[in-house]
Amino acid sequence: EAKKNKLISACYYTDEIGKKIVERYRLSSQLKQAIKSNNLYLVYQPIVCSVSGDIKGYEALTRWNLDGTHINPEVIISLAEDIGVSEDFFEWLLNTALQESALFVGYGQFIAINVSVRQFLDTSFLSNTKHIIDKHLGCNIEFEITESSLIVDFKETINKINALSALNVKVMIDDFGTGYSSLSRLKHLNVDKIKIDREFLSDACHDPKSAKIYEAIVDIAHKLDINVVAEGIETLEQRAFLKQFNPIYMQGYLFQKPQISREQTPEHIIRKMVIDH
Ligand code: C2E
Ligand code: MG
Ligand code: MG
Ligand code: MG
Repeated sequence: EAKKNKLISACYYTDEIGKKIVERYRLSSQLKQAIKSNNLYLVYQPIVCSVSGDIKGYEALTRWNLDGTHINPEVIISLAEDIGVSEDFFEWLLNTALQESALFVGYGQFIAINVSVRQFLDTSFLSNTKHIIDKHLGCNIEFEITESSLIVDFKETINKINALSALNVKVMIDDFGTGYSSLSRLKHLNVDKIKIDREFLSDACHDPKSAKIYEAIVDIAHKLDINVVAEGIETLEQRAFLKQFNPIYMQGYLFQKPQISREQTPEHIIRKMVIDH
């Protein structure tokens, strides 16, 4: 009986995997098509100053609505990498963000796009970036890279970030604190901002030690003249905790979900948000 059960569950298991493979295969060809036909789109979430409420910039996040189903952006990225269209995806992203950034540029607001580790490490990353940026007038684009991008070849990373800076592209380290890079590495990096991972903020409000860590990270960043973005602000309690760091940048559902999209007109773009209630 046990043997039979095992067999049944094994069959069920391979069947599930089989389904997943077929599903992923289908999704892959749909993604290639979606990139080509511009079926992906960006939504924007404001990043505000903790003192004035001025919107300093927006993070662009990729969305894909496939026949009514929302496909998680992390799935899109990993799929794009698996099927070798990661570069195409990045080109689509940068082109689209640059085109749409015309909406924001009048307000002096930047647009931050996420660059995956694979994209950042790609040998053609810099030349592609330069090529695309050169096609557009003015550039208020910033790149969000994660710490995992830093650890592969640190020297190379330093050079790349400097080269981006020469192209007028500022670099921010995203999800800061979750990777393996140490605080001391910051001193070698020509980065404009770090965005502290939202886990730290949610912990900080109910765990005094986490709060201390948060404080230490902000303190070191500020001492090194690096701006800090607090991400994932969802509650008034978290907002209150952050007041001690004024001024920092803030981003989170408490203020606005990523929602502004290409359908919007300049009248929808606001300069300021209410940050205290
Ligand atoms: P991320 O870059 O850390 O982006 C922040 C994520 O947190 C976004 O999820 C955003 O919608 C969400 N978020 C914003 N405020 C809050 C909040 O207050 N609470 C909570 N719980 N979440 C909040 P999203 O859009 O699902 O993106 C997930 C991840 O997918 C991103 O994390 C980023 O790593 C990746 N991603 C999204 N778009 C792109 C892209 O165009 N290129 C690349 N390479 N990665 C992307
Ligand atoms: Mg990000
Ligand atoms: Mg993040
Ligand atoms: Mg994240």
